[in-house]
Amino acid sequence: MSSPTHPEVKELNPVDFIQLQHYIEYCRLKVKDVLREFDADGRLASHRHGECIDEEGFRLFLKTYLEVEDFPVDLCQRLFLSFQNSEPGKEDAKEVFLKDVSCYFSLLEDGQPRDKLEFAFKLYDRDGNGVLDSSEVDRIIAQMMHAADYLGWDVSELRPVLKDMMTAIDADSSGTVSLDEWVEGGMNNVPLLVLLGLKMTQQDGQHLWRMKHFNKPVYCNVCQSMLLGLRKQGLCCTCCKYTVHGRCANRNPAPCTRTYVKSKKETGVPAHDWVSGNCDSRKCEKCQKKIKSLQGLTGKHCVWCHSMRHDECADQEPTECSCGALRDHILPPWAIYPVIKERPNIVKNGCSGSVDDSELNTTPDGQVLQISPVENTHPLLVFVNPKSGGKQGERVLHKFQYLLNPRQVNNLITDGPGPGLSFFKTLQNYRILVCGGDGTVGWILDAIDKANLVVRPPRRCASSGDRKRPRSLSAVGGRVRRRGSDPDPEGH
Ligand SMILES: [Zn+2]
Ligand SMILES: [Zn+2]
Ligand SMILES: [Zn+2]
Ligand SMILES: [Zn+2]
Repeated sequence: MSSPTHPEVKELNPVDFIQLQHYIEYCRLKVKDVLREFDADGRLASHRHGECIDEEGFRLFLKTYLEVEDFPVDLCQRLFLSFQNSEPGKEDAKEVFLKDVSCYFSLLEDGQPRDKLEFAFKLYDRDGNGVLDSSEVDRIIAQMMHAADYLGWDVSELRPVLKDMMTAIDADSSGTVSLDEWVEGGMNNVPLLVLLGLKMTQQDGQHLWRMKHFNKPVYCNVCQSMLLGLRKQGLCCTCCKYTVHGRCANRNPAPCTRTYVKSKKETGVPAHDWVSGNCDSRKCEKCQKKIKSLQGLTGKHCVWCHSMRHDECADQEPTECSCGALRDHILPPWAIYPVIKERPNIVKNGCSGSVDDSELNTTPDGQVLQISPVENTHPLLVFVNPKSGGKQGERVLHKFQYLLNPRQVNNLITDGPGPGLSFFKTLQNYRILVCGGDGTVGWILDAIDKANLVVRPPRRCASSGDRKRPRSLSAVGGRVRRRGSDPDPEGH
């Protein structure tokens, strides 16, 4: 991959990187398919000269690939320049190598966080000597502030956080940061990963962080002081609503809520999982009195039934969790337990970027998770295509991760349908909900056919997707489809 070589040329910066990632997150095409347009019989063939394409060809590539009419002209130019070969004398040619373009966009499309961190490192290592010296580190910090500002983060507290972060990343205290230090440190650094839009290593107990704006006073679950600022003030976990300052995210926050119990003996024992804070002025489910604000973490809410109580009421009876209004749809932690056995051998779904099926739905020590369903419930197996419906797809994904057990909710782009179907395979009573466009629905129906399910959900499709608007969201009900009982993805 070529890197910017002319200091006078406006270089790609982290905001460009974040912006591009954002475009790519919502595009439905694959780089390799669009690049085929440059083949001899392709629509863009006239822009290809040998191994290179011209600037107009590059612009058309972006337009076709990202499906946007109004891609920023200056960003397009910066990208094109960044691909230009640095060989002297060739600069006038105004052409770039197709394989550089392909490599770059494939990385953004499919790359793992590690690869992307490595890429970000190369953006900053201006002299290309493989280490970031102090001026380059200062530059990272300045650029990160710029990126955070672009994303609407409140940056007033961010600079010291970033400084501390870079010091921590320099593991051998040499004053410079090597590529290895950057990648290792970065993979464990929550604010940096969230800032760059990268997913953390999925571990059990890992919160699903998102930067969030709060329009009422909220308090940090780690240091207990208020989150300040006018813009996005802190990180909030999508699943359990645990909330922290950016600077506190690396200070050993309590783990995210359990998603399964430790052994079969513990199954069938429903218990609330309380998370402190942010219940101000709500009614206590136990004593029915208002939960008064204490200018700090106030009250507790249960991750499963979403009821709220005074701190002192949380330990009182009933300690049994009903799972609330969505009881019929939830697969609570006490319905999932680990067993030691051979990992099931599942046919891969062929989606690039999908993880190995056997790695999902296992415990960190490699035990396979099994379901022992709660009687008289019909847990939902949810598949969401976050690229469907523009921004809506992602919002739907987050909402289900909050309303249900995250283990019931599958991101089709990262996981494909395989792991979810094999996890639910032995159940008798469950429903499948697909959130995506018509193409997604067909994909899942096909996967259901191939999945050897014990109970084959009758294929009762109701697509609310309008064919003229392929990005709209539609749904397929497995088994009995009762729309009225589906959780409202926008509600709560
Ligand atoms: Zn804090
Ligand atoms: Zn959490
Ligand atoms: Zn509860
Ligand atoms: Zn109470």
